[in-house]
Amino acid sequence: MTDIAAAVVATMRKLGVLGMPRNYEVFYEALTGANTELQLAVVSLGKHPTQEELDQISQRFFAQSHGHRIVEQARDVVARELEDIATLLRSEHSHIEKYGRILDETSIGLSNRNLVSGDLLQKIVSAISAATTSTIDHGKQVASTLSEKTAELDSVKTKLEEYKRLADTDPLTQIWNRRAFDKEIARIYNSNKGILFNALILADIDRFKSINDQFGHPAGDKIIQGIAALLQSGVRSDIFVARTGGEEFALIVEGVSEDATYEIADRIRILIEQTPFSSGPAGTSCGVVTVSMGMCMASEAESPEDLYTKADQALYRSKMTGRNRVTRHSSMTGRSAKNWLLYKTE
Ligand code: GH3
Ligand code: MG
Ligand code: MG
Repeated sequence: MTDIAAAVVATMRKLGVLGMPRNYEVFYEALTGANTELQLAVVSLGKHPTQEELDQISQRFFAQSHGHRIVEQARDVVARELEDIATLLRSEHSHIEKYGRILDETSIGLSNRNLVSGDLLQKIVSAISAATTSTIDHGKQVASTLSEKTAELDSVKTKLEEYKRLADTDPLTQIWNRRAFDKEIARIYNSNKGILFNALILADIDRFKSINDQFGHPAGDKIIQGIAALLQSGVRSDIFVARTGGEEFALIVEGVSEDATYEIADRIRILIEQTPFSSGPAGTSCGVVTVSMGMCMASEAESPEDLYTKADQALYRSKMTGRNRVTRHSSMTGRSAKNWLLYKTE
């Protein structure tokens, strides 16, 4: 065992943490110090971390492997369920075959009129009736087992949907993540509706490093969460809002002009500037928090990557010219998006 592995085991024992792979994963990362955010999160749990708290860290920092676990479990359940259903249907098949044989045999007996006495007829009727009752009972049993299996498969479906949601959600803020953003921005360029009145707005918190240094990482996290919530509640519900990086956000706006996009961005900028943020439950004020923004109309760019680059260039311009402002990409090229459109259609 390597020194670090031994230290992981010893620490987990000391803290009374269960020896599960996902806990090893968390403590291994925390002890190697490769991920300072995770390290801080583990330290903040103190000397008696609960499994629930550890699972929250595991989900936050290892969303990917958490997702894989869900898929693997789901695959096992589905395989087991399918095998059970196949066995059930095989038994149903042999039962119906047997019933068919009884009916065949009795009908052959009946076709020989001379040999059928009252007694025999009565026996035939009882045999058919017994076989029918047993087949109906068996059928009922099959139906109830199948409905049980369907319920189990439904729960797997729900878990897989949860996995899909998890894979596209940012664990800290619960808004869309970079992966979801990449899919959405690609959709704009593939959409039949065209790209004329779609836009990308990027936002980056100003001087966030010093906020972290002054008030601590957890306070920084709270601000990121607060801004995500402001973005989401402060814009129309059809605007796609994502956290695309540490303290960076993106908004995809569809069906709006360049001026309207600017207004949306600037309104958000002012809203953030006017919102008080405080650190921890003690409520020390973090001062005024601002964001710089860059925007670009989709019609000014050739591809999703180009759109992102251009919006980012505009954001950089906002940083360079004093922060807490919105810059249009078109203002940097000296060609307004409107003129550019005319130029494109010529
Ligand atoms: P600027 O105005 O130029 O953007 O300055 P800045 O300090 O914000 O610079 P930059 O964008 O380069 O720094 C981002 C900082 O955000 C660095 C990193 O420590 C911090 N950060 C990134 N992700 C997180 C996070 O999830 N939580 C916290 N608390 N801090 C984060
Ligand atoms: Mg940044
Ligand atoms: Mg920043």
